[in-house]
Amino acid sequence: MTSRRDVVIVGGGPAGIATALFLVDAAPHLADRVVVLEKARYPREKICAGAIGARADALLARIGVVVDVPSAPIHGAALRVMGRTTVVREPGVGRVVRRLEFDAELARKATTRGIEVVEGAAVTAIRWVPGGIEVDSARGTYAARALVGADGVGSIVRRALGLPATRYHAQALEVDTEPVADDAPRDLLVFDAGERRLPGYVWDFPTLLDGAELVSRGVYVLARGGVRPRLEIQEVLERHLARKGLTLASYRRRRFAERGFEPHRALSRPRVLLVGEAAGIDPVTGEGIAQALFYGATAGSYLAARLAEGDLGFAGWPAAVRRSHVGRDLAYREKVVPLFYGPARPSVERFLRRSPDVLRLGLQHFGGKPWSRSAVARTGLAAAREAARYGAGRMRQHAAAR
Ligand SMILES: Cc1cc2nc3c(=O)[nH]c(=O)nc-3n(C[C@H](O)[C@H](O)[C@H](O)COP(=O)(O)OP(=O)(O)OC[C@H]3O[C@@H](n4cnc5c(N)ncnc54)[C@H](O)[C@@H]3O)c2cc1C
Repeated sequence: MTSRRDVVIVGGGPAGIATALFLVDAAPHLADRVVVLEKARYPREKICAGAIGARADALLARIGVVVDVPSAPIHGAALRVMGRTTVVREPGVGRVVRRLEFDAELARKATTRGIEVVEGAAVTAIRWVPGGIEVDSARGTYAARALVGADGVGSIVRRALGLPATRYHAQALEVDTEPVADDAPRDLLVFDAGERRLPGYVWDFPTLLDGAELVSRGVYVLARGGVRPRLEIQEVLERHLARKGLTLASYRRRRFAERGFEPHRALSRPRVLLVGEAAGIDPVTGEGIAQALFYGATAGSYLAARLAEGDLGFAGWPAAVRRSHVGRDLAYREKVVPLFYGPARPSVERFLRRSPDVLRLGLQHFGGKPWSRSAVARTGLAAAREAARYGAGRMRQHAAAR
């Protein structure tokens, strides 16, 4: 038997559930016409450090959704570059959650709004049929007018669309350990970008596991265009833990891939669109939870409008993403990848070390706060100075090489 719906959403992570919530908020009559098919059963684990900017909570609050789960509150960040650590405090910019709890509670919120979330429903096949789409899942076949691929980095929906391979692939490896004496205060997110050969960074985030105050420690490494980074991720984490007096082998390692966003790439085919990590998230830091939720908000209103018009070609979806909050944010971050992880890195490091305002602006963005004007002005000036210095250095190098 085939179940019929208007919209089938594959994947019940933040992107899929947010798409359902925002769609039903924009078009309440669709509540029983939408189904989310989730492969796992809640509470289900997602390998993730769980840092969520307050901008994401504010986004959900706009439609009256509050995800109340145990959280470690964040009031600032520390950034280590060139052997020096800069600490910037900004109250209330976010929290660290356990995805096991956050995702289950978010899915529960959707069900309380009448949205059907089917667990244990791994999707195995997708077909375009006259007038719609059909998907086979472990819980039966569904027919829909439209399909949303919210099934994360290994997206079966993305594969069905036949899109080209992504340029930005990252790996992240993490462990949860006990705190140690030289850890930063527990309300800070700590980023260590001190290893210049690493296209990525090491993190220490506070986390709460079954009520115990632990620290999520991990490494994010970006690979571009299939080029393998020169450093082995496990060795980087091993050295980081050793500096803290900890041994990697003593902890359960959790490793997972991430997909970075590329502007101007296809994200849809007729009747099918991609959101969240199936589409692509921040390649610089690997931040993806807030992005997934913002994708969902954009997709929800986009779908409501297209369903009302009966226009399900979705040719305009990539442009709608580019115009959206998440699209503009991701396009900017993609632009700075070569700066952060390319030959200009020493200059970028100098700039970051001298300009704590950059970290402040980043935190304000993370927390959904307005940028402080003086910080923007000082950052602009410092960036112009560093760019001039970098340019002059390059000219000297060229002259010497001739
Ligand atoms: C180690 C690590 C640390 C990270 N730390 C952070 C962090 O601190 N902060 C942050 O913002 N981001 C972080 N991220 C990124 C973040 O976890 C993801 O970007 C985010 O989860 C993307 O959300 P999503 O809903 O698009 O995909 P997912 O959360 O991956 O959800 C996809 C869902 O689809 C389901 N699914 C998959 N295939 C199928 C199928 N065939 N049929 C049905 N269902 C299917 C999955 O079970 C899953 O529930 C981290 C990532 C890693 C790997």
